[in-house]
Amino acid sequence: MSAKVSSTPVLGIDLGGTKILAGVVGSDNTILGRAKRSTPAKEGSEAILAAIVECAHEALQAAELDISEITAIGVGTPGPLDVERGIILFSANMNVKDFALGPDLSVATGRPVLVQNDVRAGGYGEFRLGAGQGFQNILAAFVGTGIGGCVIVNGQVVTGATGNAGELGHITIKAGGTRCGCGLRGCLEAMASRSAITRRIGKAVRKGMLSSLAFKLEKKGGKLKSGELAEAYLANDPITVKEVQRAARFLGMGLGSLVNVLGPEIVILGGGVVAALGEPYLDLVRTTMREHTLVDPEHIIKIEPAALGDDAGLLGSALLARERHGVKRK
Ligand SMILES: [Zn+2]
Repeated sequence: MSAKVSSTPVLGIDLGGTKILAGVVGSDNTILGRAKRSTPAKEGSEAILAAIVECAHEALQAAELDISEITAIGVGTPGPLDVERGIILFSANMNVKDFALGPDLSVATGRPVLVQNDVRAGGYGEFRLGAGQGFQNILAAFVGTGIGGCVIVNGQVVTGATGNAGELGHITIKAGGTRCGCGLRGCLEAMASRSAITRRIGKAVRKGMLSSLAFKLEKKGGKLKSGELAEAYLANDPITVKEVQRAARFLGMGLGSLVNVLGPEIVILGGGVVAALGEPYLDLVRTTMREHTLVDPEHIIKIEPAALGDDAGLLGSALLARERHGVKRK
């Protein structure tokens, strides 16, 4: 008896609060067909399930495959989750509670489904196919509206006793600091995410300081895209430069502390903020991370940008599903 992981096509789905991405991942791990839908987040679980099924079928059509030719479906979704049972325990962004997405999608498609946290799936995608290829111990942080993370030790995603470990956005980085979306104060996410940077720029503008982003902030109700932040940063807008640097320092501190605990071979930084701000931002994070790393005189621990962009989540979800459900005994 030998067990081998089948390399038949799998379907990966990245379910987010605003959009759904689906991709058929072939035996060589390339994307054979893809589709995209808006998430009907206000309409609740049934509408979301229907949108996922439609999106999946469109991706299959693009790949010229039938659902019966797919080994399994992997879904990456915001949590918290009951990974074993495939249930989204709750999601404020998607207006769902105890949503049995895994079982429901399996009934709708006739295929086995693995539901995993979206960021853990993204980290796994980077590990297998992106910036983490060739490494076994990885720390990944994705910086956007929030900050998500993924810890990989000896080639395995660390999910912990609860199935939800890896939430590096919610380590406390400043005692008594800004209130985080999770209810705690001073989380890394509350100090270093795009929302955190934007909020502080808005505050400075309201105090009367000049910023090239003032008009955009007012027009868009206090929200900014990563690209807009990057543009102001590269144009040396003083408040933007100050706040981006402050956020990068907090991120570097948090990562340095985690590096001391976990000793990864590589730290991968992804997400909209990292993609938009690029090397200048990475350098700021690198410098602070190294200052907070106890032992690494030769700088053997790398800190590199993610390589897969928006595809990381669906690729990681698909590969995790293949590994869980694609084992064939002969
Ligand atoms: Zn938090």
